Amino acid sequence: MKPVRTTCPYCGVGCGVKATPGVGRAVTIEGDAAHPANEGRLCSKGTHLGETVGLEGRLLHPAIGGKRASWDKALDLVARTFARTIKEHGPDSVAFYVSGQLLTEDYYVANKLMKGFIGSGNIDTNSRLCMSSAVAGHIRAFGEDVVPATYADLDEADLIVLVGSNTAWCHPIVYQRIQAARRQRGTKLVVVDPRRTETCEDADLHLAIRPGTDVALMNGLLAHCRDQGLIDEAFLGQSVSVPDGFWDGLADRDLWSTAGTCDVAPADLRRFFDLFAANPRTITLFSQGINQSIRGTDQVNAIVNVHLATGRIGKPGAAPFSITGQPNAMGGREVGGLASTLAAHMDFAPGNVDLVRQFWSAPAMAAKPGLKAVDLFRELGRGKIKALWIMATNPAVSMPDAGAVRDALSACPFVVVSDCMVRTDTLAYAHVALPASAWGEKDGTVTNSERRISRQRPVFANPGEARPDWWIISEVARRMGWKSPFAYDRPADIYREHARLSTYRNNGRRLFDIGHHGAISNPDYDALEPFCWGGTPFADGRFPTGDGRARLVSVRQMELADPLVQWPFTLNTGRYRDQWHTMTRTGLSARLSAHRREPLVEIHPDDAADLGIADSGFARLITAQGESVFRVQLSDGQRHGEAFVPIHWTDQQSTGGRTGRLPRPLVDPFSGQPGFKSTPLRIEPLVTE
Ligand code: SF4
Repeated sequence: MKPVRTTCPYCGVGCGVKATPGVGRAVTIEGDAAHPANEGRLCSKGTHLGETVGLEGRLLHPAIGGKRASWDKALDLVARTFARTIKEHGPDSVAFYVSGQLLTEDYYVANKLMKGFIGSGNIDTNSRLCMSSAVAGHIRAFGEDVVPATYADLDEADLIVLVGSNTAWCHPIVYQRIQAARRQRGTKLVVVDPRRTETCEDADLHLAIRPGTDVALMNGLLAHCRDQGLIDEAFLGQSVSVPDGFWDGLADRDLWSTAGTCDVAPADLRRFFDLFAANPRTITLFSQGINQSIRGTDQVNAIVNVHLATGRIGKPGAAPFSITGQPNAMGGREVGGLASTLAAHMDFAPGNVDLVRQFWSAPAMAAKPGLKAVDLFRELGRGKIKALWIMATNPAVSMPDAGAVRDALSACPFVVVSDCMVRTDTLAYAHVALPASAWGEKDGTVTNSERRISRQRPVFANPGEARPDWWIISEVARRMGWKSPFAYDRPADIYREHARLSTYRNNGRRLFDIGHHGAISNPDYDALEPFCWGGTPFADGRFPTGDGRARLVSVRQMELADPLVQWPFTLNTGRYRDQWHTMTRTGLSARLSAHRREPLVEIHPDDAADLGIADSGFARLITAQGESVFRVQLSDGQRHGEAFVPIHWTDQQSTGGRTGRLPRPLVDPFSGQPGFKSTPLRIEPLVTE
């Protein structure tokens, strides 16, 4: 059999995969040397994809009330119940909660149905939990959600600063690329992370800053750049708006005060500043340590400010670079899959609403943003949302305060779950379960962290009665009475429509534009090669704002309160190298599971000694939201007072080590992204008989 060129379904690196089907569901996996994102490399998760495509644990038939039902009955019930709920309680009484696992075509159809035909903004995505602070920061600074770098910039940088990112584990192929640049070019590497992770092992410098002091660090760096004459005055004059009082806000940020706030040695901070001064080709790559914060957007803008003020943007090897966690978080951003955006990188400005209304011939356009994820589930718990459709995600585990989310799902009159797996805790709350296609069956496009659109192509036929998400959503729309707007026969029909919409402009410039594919033929869509939209953003010094100028944003370091006696620790959450999200797929691979067989809480040895806990002993982790028991791993890479746990284990896999119920549901005020990395915590030793 010939190999199928497709894209890995895990992280936002978006590696190209060659999948050669064998007998039955067997498949041989290798990296696609022709894909620019990975040039043939694959990490452990990608390499072992073939072990996760069997039919074990697959949802293969529609079900109503847990009993097998026909597609017709299930779809009719979903359409009828949503229509009745909208009629009785209005369009804002229903919601979709979708996922960065969906393909762009799936996302597009879901967004069109909710925002154009149901008439509500209530479609939000689990990408809200992952990168929405980067979206908000980009829009504040650039006027549009544009990532200004590609992976090729990593090859051309002289200094790479990784902030809040365990890249070696969470984006391994990006990390390998950084290592290659270090070998070949001597690129310097600085890691800023409160934890000493595997990513720090190869770094020139690790700054283990006090958690939550990223704004102080970046403002201190910016003040240093000003004092050393590194500000690019010509670029600022031509291309950047500087708000009144911006520089005054940095007055107290000298090296010593910054080192004190961040709790790092002044000599280390001086080294970082010197490296930054000496290497204008700088990439600052950031991820969840920046985004998953109640000040995430300010943290993003603190990083972007430094790049704008020093002119390190729009040039090879120089940019701030947000990398996404999920395979198609970026595709969701492009279609408007966030409650805060409308479609095709447009917000809810009245002119945009009218444009999209005309384009879709929409009968009931949403005129305002909908509920963001945390608010959405809060309103679900209050009874305001009466019908919810969850697509390809597991909020009963992955949302902060997941216990309250479960209570809300229990109380909701009508919950629909479309998923490819039965091993999700969320499926237990479904009144209607709809079997969706999985990786290896899906057909469409995804966009990775560098704005590269790639094809996911089918390797197998859909098993059982599984169907593509776009088909399921379109069938419900048609049964709600909107036949011709959702008369799609294939993903290419949707992609062409999405591409045409991307050319619509209310006013000004927008970089997201794939209009050249508005009439792409079916064969050309099938053969589509990976490509980045947006070219080299901002190379001409022009930004997609009204006046063409980017904006520096005044951001201040928030006051950090000392821990309360009741909650002396801070809970931090993250990923293991070989698991993906709630392990519904990676948990099927024995080899991937062998890397870490159980979830561990990592704490500093001195803290463990104070608590009377030995290495490999058990501890109970208690927050205001819930509690769970973990085995303890002592690690002097943890700061005092901090505890780190993985996000992966669920009720399905374990009786302990379940993180989901622990994080608090506080969010960033601009992005609505939850602050997963700073939940007040108490740790108690668990004495076993
Ligand atoms: Fe897949 Fe990410 Fe690994 Fe690439 S780096 S193979 S996209 S999990």
